[in-house]
Amino acid sequence: MPDQVRHDGGRVTTTRFAPSPTGRLHMGHAYSAILAHDFARARGGRFLLRIEDIDGTRSRAEHVATIRDDLSWLGLTWDGPVVFQSQRLPLYQAALDRLRDMRLLYRCYCTRAEIAEAASAPHGAVAVYPGTCRGAPVRDAPFCWRIDMAAAVARAGPLAWTDHGVPVAAIPAAQGDVVLARKDAPASYHLAVTVDDAAQGVTDVVRGVDLFEATHVHRLLQALLVLPVPGWHHHALLTGADGERLAKRNGAPTLAAMRAAGVDGAAVAAELRAKSGSSLRA
Ligand code: GLU
Repeated sequence: MPDQVRHDGGRVTTTRFAPSPTGRLHMGHAYSAILAHDFARARGGRFLLRIEDIDGTRSRAEHVATIRDDLSWLGLTWDGPVVFQSQRLPLYQAALDRLRDMRLLYRCYCTRAEIAEAASAPHGAVAVYPGTCRGAPVRDAPFCWRIDMAAAVARAGPLAWTDHGVPVAAIPAAQGDVVLARKDAPASYHLAVTVDDAAQGVTDVVRGVDLFEATHVHRLLQALLVLPVPGWHHHALLTGADGERLAKRNGAPTLAAMRAAGVDGAAVAAELRAKSGSSLRA
């Protein structure tokens, strides 16, 4: 099923900001939101806000209100109602059922500890699942659904996507048999984001380069589910004075704290726009 063309001819440019409400936003999030917002606005398009709250154990409602206030403080506006992934589980279930009917999924009973041991990933590396449960008999125990990556890649055939308009060959096999539905939810990040970007008519995905590798998987899922293909525009991550990526763990101030301290959001947005250079125009 080679499918290398964008299917958005004639559609209104639509981007989104899709934070997970598991903590407060910092400048890195602000940068990403501004880039996605401005990309759409510069083209007379739509900018959507989607709350990626399928992780019920880590998501907090109080962060959602803060996210809205943070974006407003930056001077960003979004179109239409805010979409919550936690309210869209039947959509993900339907996509999962389709993939299962294609015989591309299998149940995985492994615990995190078992996977870490079997994969013996070098310290700090993301372990690629070694396929322990592929072909294992069904048993009465909690399980997640994994994609049989080799079978899925064979079915989809060669795929490509564009990043800033430049063609990129999709190589999802390197990600291994990723999880598509968790033990506690009928979706994983990969499945939910793919289903939602299509359902919401997102034509251009503007997000951090930390999600570049995930795009290989998203492109594969689009092909298997016969969904429209957006363009991607991964942007560099903001770094602090120490060159490290901004994150809560290395002490980056939250937008909420900056707001509370009386910092001018419009000035912050202007400063971030000045940093963005070519990213905005790509
Ligand atoms: N929810 C993801 C995050 O907060 C972003 C998803 C995306 O932009 O595709 O990292």
